[in-house]
Amino acid sequence: MPDSHTHKTVTSHAVNITRLAEAENLIKTYCLYPDLYYGKDKNDIEPYLFMDGDVGFHDIPPSSITELYQFWIPDENGQLHRGRQYKNASYLFTEKCFAFYFENIKKAVAEKRIDDVMKFTGCLIHHMQDATFGLHVLEGASGADVYTFNKLSGVDFMSYFFELKLKDEWQQENVSPIYLGDTPGEAAMNLCSQYVIHNKKSCNSLFAIAANRISKNDDAILDTETFNMYMSSVSITSAILYTVGAWINNTVFEKKSLPLVDIIPYESPLGGTGNYRLKMLQINENELEFGVHFEQNIIYHIAENVFENFTAELIAQNVNSVKIEVINDGKTIDSFEISGNEKKNIKIESPQGVFGLRTSSTKPSGALLLRNGQFNRKD
Ligand SMILES: [Zn+2]
Repeated sequence: MPDSHTHKTVTSHAVNITRLAEAENLIKTYCLYPDLYYGKDKNDIEPYLFMDGDVGFHDIPPSSITELYQFWIPDENGQLHRGRQYKNASYLFTEKCFAFYFENIKKAVAEKRIDDVMKFTGCLIHHMQDATFGLHVLEGASGADVYTFNKLSGVDFMSYFFELKLKDEWQQENVSPIYLGDTPGEAAMNLCSQYVIHNKKSCNSLFAIAANRISKNDDAILDTETFNMYMSSVSITSAILYTVGAWINNTVFEKKSLPLVDIIPYESPLGGTGNYRLKMLQINENELEFGVHFEQNIIYHIAENVFENFTAELIAQNVNSVKIEVINDGKTIDSFEISGNEKKNIKIESPQGVFGLRTSSTKPSGALLLRNGQFNRKD
């Protein structure tokens, strides 16, 4: 939870980097909206703030990874099956939340309601700053909470994290902001990934700060890791402001394909046999690698009507036999078996919605690689 000063500093830094015009009120007030909602201005702020029933971003549901390796049930042949379907509550919440903001921003841009654009944007960047700086970092994606640290260490980290200080010279740092996409759906999809990536980096920094506090208590480590969290916050805020600015100015970008490794799955494969036992999805330069298990899925949520096709090579590595179901738009569109060290080219037309592979094996062994996966755009 950054304080108001941190929210304003990160916002003004990102406004400078992206040269967003008419952003005075965004820096002064709108980037604080989700906190001000709890005060006397509740009714004015409510229309601009995403709420899912009584759940707002400050209370984002966690998604536990334990669901990916627990809950197996054996059948009469000794074959294990998943007892329940994996549900990534954090992902489902954030994609709805981001779609709400980007749809409202796009509409307000089209109707030239720039003050409304800034109010919706202020709420969205506040959420992303909460998710990348201070104690809220621990919540949400693969969540825990600050009390976990208190429980493990006996130290009150709630107040310690709340007092993390910024340094003025950090505002000279630059980042090259990424463009999230032309449509609200694509921007929301890319922000889901950016959120997980930056949140994870900030989690690593927050853990380093906690470990330092109970061991060396070295100010240099505290400064470096606080700086890293600050820059995560500036990067993700800049990506949003850069995208909103491009929508306002009708900036046209070159149409590049989107590498599969740049987006974060809704459901990740976890574990396998031998070397892959309890191993998480490995993300290498241009390939994904995971162990074969009884049932294992790699599922994405892909924006609608953005991509022409998806291409990749699926490579088996010392597998007995794996059944592959290819999923697009929530339906099985193809299925086949792959074994040994076989390679197969995959091409999927109009990839969108619930998308990916469901795999299963009666005799799990070896690994699967997805190499050079990319989503190619419509012209
Ligand atoms: Zn907040």
